[in-house]
Amino acid sequence: MMVGQRLRQEGMSETQIEHFQQALKITQELREEIRERAHRLQWKVLDALQSQGLSEIHLNGSTGYGYGDCGRELLDRVFARLFGSQAALARLQFVSGTHAIACGLFGNLRPGQEMVCLTGDPYDTLATVIGLGNPGPGSLAEWGVSYRQLDLLDHGLDLDGIASFLRPQTRLVFLQRSRGYAWRNSLTVGQLGRAIERVRACCPQALIMVDNCYGELVEDHEPTQVGADLVAGSLIKNLGGTLAASGGYLAGTELAVEAASYRLTAPGIGGEQGASFGFSRSLLQGLFQAPIVVGQALEGAVWASCFLELEGYEVGPRWDQPRTDIVQAVKLGSPEAQAAFCKGIQSSGPVDSGATPESWVQPGYRDRILMAGGTFVAGSSLELSADCPVRAPYIAYLQGGISLGHVQLGVVRAVKRLSMLQNN
Ligand SMILES: *Cc1c(COP(=O)(O)O)cnc(C)c1O
Repeated sequence: MMVGQRLRQEGMSETQIEHFQQALKITQELREEIRERAHRLQWKVLDALQSQGLSEIHLNGSTGYGYGDCGRELLDRVFARLFGSQAALARLQFVSGTHAIACGLFGNLRPGQEMVCLTGDPYDTLATVIGLGNPGPGSLAEWGVSYRQLDLLDHGLDLDGIASFLRPQTRLVFLQRSRGYAWRNSLTVGQLGRAIERVRACCPQALIMVDNCYGELVEDHEPTQVGADLVAGSLIKNLGGTLAASGGYLAGTELAVEAASYRLTAPGIGGEQGASFGFSRSLLQGLFQAPIVVGQALEGAVWASCFLELEGYEVGPRWDQPRTDIVQAVKLGSPEAQAAFCKGIQSSGPVDSGATPESWVQPGYRDRILMAGGTFVAGSSLELSADCPVRAPYIAYLQGGISLGHVQLGVVRAVKRLSMLQNN
């Protein structure tokens, strides 16, 4: 068999080749469902593009202030439509997902008010934005915004704890959909919706914001469609479809998005400026392709979860557990194993495949992070990539890949590197 031959060339044992094929069989039905959903979502994206009258003229760019850039304005409207929200900002000028989230927070909070997170520790880079444990320069804490968090329970959100946790000065309630760098399940849009209902009932003055990173287009609905006032994320993750060269987005109510826009640019200017430099084409085309790429990345994650478990690794989520992000975690147990795993993923990338990933403390992160990704867009994690925070229990977070086949090759090479380590 052709695939078998290729896998033997890759140095896989007969047992590993059997696991490879078994994982395909076991996950077949679920992967078909994922493909069907991807097709449904592509129709939804197409409807959004057509409803706003996308035309050749929108693909041209602007420079300077970017006044009246019709492509940029259309992209904002398409995002709003897709999220079923009043407004959106999808911009190159957001340097990352963290930046978009920070604009949402600073735009909508004022000194003396309180932010509450209902999903335990927020993502690493948000700790410095909030000023968690250290009211560092420029943080919300330094500015006089206080913060408290309600930890997740083993089975998910602490729904019954919400009412007594929120207070009259709670202005912003924050929820993180994806697992981040934590060994926990991602939260489904349905679970987020139930939490949002509780918050509304006891704390009607609160603005509800969701960190939507890695979750976009994984389910049929987005958090804005179950009551979230604001969502934010990165365009070099799901919604950029691997074609966006940079950027982030916010979507939500007119008021919340406008307030955030004054932090992206300046009060009074908001979303009216921002040149697109000719990148509108790749942002729009990336969005059009995003459901398909996300679907392939998900198929890859499901297959990888099953294959890695057959190979004896502890995985999260297991292949048939509900998923609402594209991230597949695998417990590796040592920094050496993380390095081997990352080397295997890196060697499967189209760019810089010969490089050896080295860990470093990136701005905003607590621990050293080892990152593998031979990607066309630097740091893009809808392209095949792996991140390993170098801290116990030494987990690799695998995500992205434009095809199931690419994910498979990456995981095969990662597993081969891990077996070489064990045989040493
Ligand atoms: C990726 C991510 C972010 C933001 O990361 P950037 O690298 O700044 O784009 C925030 N929250 C979660 C859960 C993420 O996965």
